[in-house]
Amino acid sequence: MTNSNFAIIGGGPAGLAAAELLAQHGHDVTIYEAMPTPARKFLMAGKSGLNITHNEEFDQFKSRYGRASAALAPALDDLMPMDIRRWANEMGAETFVGSSGRVFPRAMKASPLLRNWLGRLNDLNVTLKTRHRWAGFDGDKLVFDTPEGMVKAQHDGTILALGGTSWPRLGGNGDWIEYLNQLDIDIAPFQPANCGFVVEWSDHFKEKFAGAPIKSVGATSDFGTQLGEFVITKNGVEGSLIYHHSAALRDAIAEKGRAELVLDLVPGQTVEKLITRLEKQKPKQSLSNLLRKGAKLTGAKAALVREVQPDAGKRTPAELAQLIKALPLPIIAPQPITHAISSAGGVKWDEMDSNYMLKKRPGLFVAGEMIDWEAPTGGYLITACLATGRAAASGLMQWAIRK
Ligand SMILES: Cc1cc2nc3c(=O)[nH]c(=O)nc-3n(C[C@H](O)[C@H](O)[C@H](O)COP(=O)(O)OP(=O)(O)OC[C@H]3O[C@@H](n4cnc5c(N)ncnc54)[C@H](O)[C@@H]3O)c2cc1C
Repeated sequence: MTNSNFAIIGGGPAGLAAAELLAQHGHDVTIYEAMPTPARKFLMAGKSGLNITHNEEFDQFKSRYGRASAALAPALDDLMPMDIRRWANEMGAETFVGSSGRVFPRAMKASPLLRNWLGRLNDLNVTLKTRHRWAGFDGDKLVFDTPEGMVKAQHDGTILALGGTSWPRLGGNGDWIEYLNQLDIDIAPFQPANCGFVVEWSDHFKEKFAGAPIKSVGATSDFGTQLGEFVITKNGVEGSLIYHHSAALRDAIAEKGRAELVLDLVPGQTVEKLITRLEKQKPKQSLSNLLRKGAKLTGAKAALVREVQPDAGKRTPAELAQLIKALPLPIIAPQPITHAISSAGGVKWDEMDSNYMLKKRPGLFVAGEMIDWEAPTGGYLITACLATGRAAASGLMQWAIRK
């Protein structure tokens, strides 16, 4: 095979994975990255424990990408969670499976893995040009905004791996949308995913309980029911259980102007058992005592009942039990995309062929979170970024041979 000179724009996990595969096949690869250092979001992901993939049954795993599951399946089939664990191991980041099936490097952080990954790319003679922000095309040439001014570069093919639009200070601010729009590429509007939500707490409640964790609860939305935990914030709710429901809540708000997350505050108990216990309590005691003695609810959990349903104390034991098992929390709006873990939206699937090449610009490929898919947290995001990075790289190599 002849050796080609390829460009990767964007040095996050999708771009680095693409670069690695291309360089392993003997191609000359240059990564252009807007920031002074690559993969800042990947490093940020490691701050709260780098959840790199998930250990669940593979068909279930592939279904986590919702509407994009079928389109992503071939790339995921070619880079399965076991492959990612093997690869991380090669990068000196041995992994383990957490109690929820999530897979983490033992160090929990991303930095040791990233250091070794960049070392491998360096050994493969990949060139990394930082402070090069892509600014569109001049004919066949790529244009970059650099501290030395605008520079142009010519390559045999290009992969864009520019990320979504959450946490823009880490590098991905969606400035590339303009350049793809100029090529008439259709892009689904970006929206927050895996984000917190606004809830209108009373002053008393937020003063007393902002920061309080709500542990071991069930939560139900159109996305189904999930057990987990979340945190009360000054203006809403955050945390893994909320992220799990974020797409359903966000879409319900867009459609109906409102959404509801139904909480089961005592998932271990049946309604019947709860009614029996509440009926045994002395009448006319305070709601706090009733919740504490009859349902073992204290602190923020008990306060949530009163906050959401101020007249809860007037309910019969049967009504109160129903409320504790299905407390309807009104959700007002998603938190801004700047604070979301990931974003939904991006380059529409119709714009690409099955090899991630833009049909309207042969030789230009896309990968990672800039494509129109979303997934819950749990390692699914990084997995799909690595998988689409490699799939786009394979597509680029095939295209270069055929050209
Ligand atoms: C707080 C937080 C925690 C997370 N935790 C996890 C987790 O545990 N597990 C998980 O799976 N996912 C997690 N994620 C999500 C995960 O980090 C992202 O999905 C992933 O980094 C996206 O990879 P990407 O390569 O597509 O894009 P990015 O990582 O966003 O990389 C895109 C790169 O392109 C560069 N770029 C953008 N525009 C230009 C331009 N015009 N010119 C040149 N370069 C440009 C950016 O600077 C950036 O370096 C987390 C995210 C956050 C914010």
